Amino acid sequence: MPLDKNDKILIIGAGLCGSLLALRLAQRGHQVTLVEKRPDLRAKPLDAGRSINLALSDRGLKALKMAGMDQKALAISIPMRGRMIHQPGRDPFFSPYSGNTNTAINSISRPGLNELLLDAIEEIGTVDLYFNAACIDLDLERCLAHFEQQKPGNSGAEQSETFQIQADVIFGCDGAGSVVRKTLQNKKGEGFDFTLDWLSHGYKELSIDPGPDHTFQLRDDALHIWPRGEDMIIALPNLDKSFTVTLFMSHTRQPHGFEHLNSPEQIEDYFRQKYPELLSLIPDVVRQYQENPTGPLGTVKCGPWNYSGKALIMGDAAHAIVPFYGQGMNASFEDVLVLDQLIETDVQSWDTLFEKFAQERKKDADAIADLALDNFHEMKEHTADPIFQRKRSIEVRLEQERPRDYQSKYSMVTFNPELSYHQAMTQGRAQDKAIEQLLRDGILSESQDLDDQLSLIQKQTKTLLSQ
Ligand SMILES: Cc1cc2nc3c(=O)[nH]c(=O)nc-3n(C[C@H](O)[C@H](O)[C@H](O)COP(=O)(O)OP(=O)(O)OC[C@H]3O[C@@H](n4cnc5c(N)ncnc54)[C@H](O)[C@@H]3O)c2cc1C
Repeated sequence: MPLDKNDKILIIGAGLCGSLLALRLAQRGHQVTLVEKRPDLRAKPLDAGRSINLALSDRGLKALKMAGMDQKALAISIPMRGRMIHQPGRDPFFSPYSGNTNTAINSISRPGLNELLLDAIEEIGTVDLYFNAACIDLDLERCLAHFEQQKPGNSGAEQSETFQIQADVIFGCDGAGSVVRKTLQNKKGEGFDFTLDWLSHGYKELSIDPGPDHTFQLRDDALHIWPRGEDMIIALPNLDKSFTVTLFMSHTRQPHGFEHLNSPEQIEDYFRQKYPELLSLIPDVVRQYQENPTGPLGTVKCGPWNYSGKALIMGDAAHAIVPFYGQGMNASFEDVLVLDQLIETDVQSWDTLFEKFAQERKKDADAIADLALDNFHEMKEHTADPIFQRKRSIEVRLEQERPRDYQSKYSMVTFNPELSYHQAMTQGRAQDKAIEQLLRDGILSESQDLDDQLSLIQKQTKTLLSQ
């Protein structure tokens, strides 16, 4: 007997993962209730495309396609075909993400994408949607969830009311600080593995306005990076021709850490020293720096993700990662795809489904968490390293000329959803190490014949993989 369509499904969190999951389960004919702590983001019109943006790539797109949403998402995205690297004392240069010129990652507004999903859910008409309602307590045994909802009272002032939802199965898609995960942890006690590793660095978002003729002030088909060793800035384009800029910096490091950089003089000095060109692109950088919050970054690894067949955590609730591979949302969407594919195999119970999901997905979630940390170092340090740049130029040529035989680690993770994150990590790490060793030892060079390069890299990768 397949999963019972009469089972009442409660999804906590209508962010990116919860919304796609609700949409897909509703498309499959399940009874879904979706509850979100924040107000309905569609109620507040967006400021003409200005927003926090994310890089949406092939894994996320494949999952969106499952729900018929990929083209709608692409219609509100800007393709970025490579990194534009800004180093001190030299002209910025473009480093393609792949030798295949058709590949791109896509800059998309987070609220814009979330709105698309919520609209699609509402179109189906069968999902019960609640906003302003935070889950405050859960009884996993009874599948009973308690919520506190903010509502305008008679006097116009906000009032809070509590209500409860009785479900047959609960999905926790409530993000990195998940209440559902915390409840699982309390319930399982020592039987629950949990680590939260905070990164030494936090982030702060800034913005580059459109230019005077309503044009982009930087090349718009690239993700811009200013690697500065300990710190780094990136910028992604928005539809309104602005760029969302993110500064990644240590919290505590002296003198350039969020805890120490406070006065207007210190902030201006820092940008003058490290990112002088950004001072003209963001004339009010001091004001933005002081007004915008600093966010923390961390990695959550935990398990088990399910409470028998009664509850399952997904997305950031199960595996929050640092953003340096641009894969957190993509991985969360891929979770929904993997779950959907398992439902398709005609699983007989929620219990079996959740067990199979965790079994298949956990090693991939751990792999992308580790890869994202690798990329933190690669982006802030190695993109400016000559060996890294030589490696990239060899890889780009191989990907262009020998697309069937060679894919870089970045391409495997970002553009090849047919490979799991774990496979991409294992193969990609060995390949990176092989090329770097061969370049340092003077065995591999840019002037060699492509077939010779390929066979050297393949042989060395194989040796490393067999060790
Ligand atoms: C600076 C930064 C840049 C990033 N860039 C990228 C990128 O380029 N590409 C990429 O793929 N990923 C990126 N990510 C990661 C991405 O944002 C997350 O992986 C993604 O948002 C996870 O989706 P989610 O739905 O699991 O969680 P969330 O997006 O956090 O959604 C959780 C939802 O649950 C709601 N909620 C929380 N608690 C409760 C409660 N108690 N009751 C009810 N509702 C609740 C929240 O309000 C929220 O709407 C980035 C992250 C950061 C911090």
